Amino acid sequence: MKAIKSVRQSYVPDPRTFDFLETFRDMVNHCIRTGLQNNAWALKRLSKLSYRELIQYDIPSYYKLCAISKAAGILSNRRQSIKRGINTKNPHLKKPILISCYGFKLEGDVFKIPLGGRKYFDIPLNHHTREVIHGNGNDATFKINSFVLTAGAISISYSKDVPEIQCNSTAGIDRNLRNVTVGDCSQVVQYDISKAARIAENTRSITSSFKRDDHRIRKQLYSKYGTRRKNRINQLLHKISQDVVYNAAQNKHALVFEDIRHIRKMYQKGNWQGKKHRGTMNGWSFSEIKRQIEYKSKWRGIPIIQLSRQDTRGTSRLCPRCGKRLQDKGAWNTPDHNRELWCDTCQRWQDRDVIAVMNQSLRGLPRLGSSKGDAGEAMRGNVDNALPLILRVDASKLQLIGHNPST
Ligand SMILES: [Zn+2]
Repeated sequence: MKAIKSVRQSYVPDPRTFDFLETFRDMVNHCIRTGLQNNAWALKRLSKLSYRELIQYDIPSYYKLCAISKAAGILSNRRQSIKRGINTKNPHLKKPILISCYGFKLEGDVFKIPLGGRKYFDIPLNHHTREVIHGNGNDATFKINSFVLTAGAISISYSKDVPEIQCNSTAGIDRNLRNVTVGDCSQVVQYDISKAARIAENTRSITSSFKRDDHRIRKQLYSKYGTRRKNRINQLLHKISQDVVYNAAQNKHALVFEDIRHIRKMYQKGNWQGKKHRGTMNGWSFSEIKRQIEYKSKWRGIPIIQLSRQDTRGTSRLCPRCGKRLQDKGAWNTPDHNRELWCDTCQRWQDRDVIAVMNQSLRGLPRLGSSKGDAGEAMRGNVDNALPLILRVDASKLQLIGHNPST
């Protein structure tokens, strides 16, 4: 299994690189125009159409190939959006940027960006980047794939082959507004992320208190507080994803995600909810935590199982033990059992989020390649009378274990 990661650092730009960044952007936009005119999006066709047109640009030819491929990516994204019925403008690349998977060199602690004619622009790597790259350097399959240069930062993408861990069991992941719950029928860890919701709440109250009716200033402030909010929340999510992946590796659990693409649709304009409620529900990124867990899992060789919407059906409503539909008696009648559901057959209360991960882990089991034969057996064997052990963790108090490249 090939796992890919990237590391980003800032650098001091130089007029030569600025020229390259601008030229690259112009080339990408040129290719996009060509693609739009000819209704082409596939890389092969786009290359045929536009490679010769790019002769006019004075830049090494491998950058031209990368520009075409970048344009192809943008065009196929646009095509996907149109397919899904999203109203799409003609795309163009705004930021000056330089991407290449060819020609660069790493000499000691210096990353060399090719400028053509055996000339290079040198970027000294900082401490963190050095650690990441040299920390993996002794792995035979380690490779630097490409770099992306912007006006102030360079991002280096690297990969290695990771053997997949043979897992015998699964752990479900449930993403909620106030917590992230991970586990199976014997143990469940619940990460409290109400802090993320609070950060989002604060940002909203700050930004909504701006009274000046100047859209330029408003836009600037929104972007400033938006970035700050994103950084703070992502930091929290990084702690969770790191812990989840670490535990999965320790227990040899494959991780099971449910399909929650419908969730954003539930909280869109026009669904009878107030603006504030919608804002709360969209306060943190359900897909960001998934993205983080996925790439960190890949790096450690942990399999990920994605349930379809069909597979996901009923995970939050059916009793994992007897399969009967659970009853929601309402928080009003049963204040002690807020967010819990009652099973009449088993005669007990169960936490909503815990049920969801138990069901998910069970539904993921048959998809485990190695234990296909005895999945049914495992399902029955696993769900005994005992309720799972529930560990509650305050995500904001988790330690982020450095930026250890091997984790
Ligand atoms: Zn039951």
